[in-house]
Amino acid sequence: MSKLVQGYEVVIGFETHAQLSTNSKIFSRASVAFGAEPNTQACALDMALPGTLPVMNKGAVERAIEFGLAVNAHVAERSIFARKNYFYPDLPKGYQISQFEIPVVQGGEVSFFLEEGKETVHKTVRLERAHLEEDAGKSLHEDFIGQSGIDLNRAGTPLLEIVTQPDIRSSEEAVAYAKELHKIVTWIGICDGNMQEGSFRCDANVSVRKPGEPLGTRREIKNLNSFKFMQQAIDYEVRWQIEQIEDGHKIQQATVLFNPDTGETRAMRTKEDSADYRYFPDPDLPPLVIGRDWVERVKGEMTELPRVMAERFVKDYALPEYNATTLTQSKAMAAYFEATAKACGQPKLASNWIMGEVSRRLNAGEMTIEQAPVSAAQLAALIGRISDSTISNSAARQVFEGLWNGEGEVDAIIEAKGLKQMNDTGELEKIIDEVLAANPKNVEEFKAGNAKALNGLVGPIMKASKGKANPAQVNALLMKKMG
Ligand code: ADP
Ligand code: MG
Repeated sequence: MSKLVQGYEVVIGFETHAQLSTNSKIFSRASVAFGAEPNTQACALDMALPGTLPVMNKGAVERAIEFGLAVNAHVAERSIFARKNYFYPDLPKGYQISQFEIPVVQGGEVSFFLEEGKETVHKTVRLERAHLEEDAGKSLHEDFIGQSGIDLNRAGTPLLEIVTQPDIRSSEEAVAYAKELHKIVTWIGICDGNMQEGSFRCDANVSVRKPGEPLGTRREIKNLNSFKFMQQAIDYEVRWQIEQIEDGHKIQQATVLFNPDTGETRAMRTKEDSADYRYFPDPDLPPLVIGRDWVERVKGEMTELPRVMAERFVKDYALPEYNATTLTQSKAMAAYFEATAKACGQPKLASNWIMGEVSRRLNAGEMTIEQAPVSAAQLAALIGRISDSTISNSAARQVFEGLWNGEGEVDAIIEAKGLKQMNDTGELEKIIDEVLAANPKNVEEFKAGNAKALNGLVGPIMKASKGKANPAQVNALLMKKMG
C-alpha cells in the first residue's frame, strides 16, 4: 500500500553509479586512486589521443558478474558496448563508452525492510538492468582566477550503473532502497561505497500521479551523494511537482540539482532523450562474452550474501528474522555478533546486547562497530557473568559502561565496583527479615492472596542490597518465609 501525498501517488525510479573497486581504469591501465594531482593519472587513451584503443578490464567485468549474482539477475552471455555521443569539455572523445541495448546485467531485485508507523514492511524493488560504463573527467572551476581547468584523472574510471523499475513509492522507500543497495555493493566488495568521494552516486527520477492514472512526467534529481540530502531533495521535489500541477502547469521532463543550502531543487537542463545521444555499437570493442563457467567460478568464490547470512542466523542461532536482518547490516556487525555468540554460547542474549546497549552507544558516539571499544570477547565474558548469576542485569549494564570507558576487564570491573550478586544466603536473609518487619501491610496482603503485594517487598530488598541480591534467590526466600 502506498501512502498518498495530498491525494497524489509518488513514483520513483533510481539510477545509481557505483564506482567499481578495480585498481586500474575500465579500458586503460592508468590508476583510479582518489586524490592525485590533476591529470597525473590520465594516459593517452584517457586523453582520447588518436590511435589509442580500449582494452576491457577483466576485473570490472568480474565485479559486474558478482553484482548480477547478488541481486538474482541474469548475467548476459553476450553484451555490447555502445558509444553515447555528447559534447562536454571533460569528455575529449566526444562520446562515453557505455552499454545500451544489451547490458551485462539484466533484471534482478533488491529487497529490504522498512518501518512504516509501527509496522515493519517488506519491500522489493525490481531492477531493470545494470551496465558497465566509463566515467568522464572533471571540470575544475578556479573562480579566483576566473578560469576552468580539465582534470582527466577520473576519465575511464569503471562504473556500474544500476537502474530500477519505477517501483519506489515514497522518499522513505527511496532511502531504504539506496541503503540496501549500498550495503550489497560494499558487502560483496565491488565498490568502496564512499559517498563523499563520489564512489556511490544516486539519481532519483521522480514523478507524481493521481492513483490509477498513467505515469506522470518525471524530473531526474542528479548526483545525490548523502542519504539525508536524498530524502530532503525528493520531499521537496514531490511538493514542488504537486504544487505545479495544482496550479494548472504541466511538468517538463528535466534534469535538476539539489542545493543543500536552500533545500531546493533547480532545473539544470531540459532532459535529452536517448535518441539525442545517437547510440551505436562501439567498433573498437568486441562483444563482451561471459561463459557460464566464468559465472560459476565467480559464484563459487563469492562471500556469503547478507540475506543468506540472515537466513542462517535464524536457522542456526534461533534468532527472530528482525534481529537477523539488523545484525547483517554490515559484515563487521555480523562478524561481531557471531564472535560474541560463539564465545558465550548464548546467541539470543548476544543479539539483545548488540542491538541494545552496543548500538545505543555506537549511535550516541556516531561510531561504527569497528570502532567499538568493547570487543566481542569482552561482551561474551560479560554475558557469561550474567548467565552464571555472578551479576544481575542492572549490574551488567554498569559493567558494560566500565568496559566501554576502558576501565579494564569484566571480572576486574565487577570487583572494583563491588557488583557481585549476593550469594551469601545469611546476609540476604537478614535484609529480607528487616524489610518484612518494616512492611507488615504488604505481608498481610500477600498472604491474603494479592500476588502484586510481592513487588512492594522485592523493590526495597533489591535497594537494601544495592542491587546485588539475586532476584531469583530473593523470590525463593520470600516464598519460604511467607509461605
Ligand atoms: P534515462 O534516464 O537514461 O533516460 P530510463 O528512461 O530508462 O533512462 O529511466 C531511468 C529511470 O527512470 C528508471 O529508474 C525508471 O524506472 C525511471 N522512470 C521512468 N519513468 C518514470 C516516471 N514516469 N516516474 C518516475 N520514474 C520513472
Ligand atoms: Mg538517466
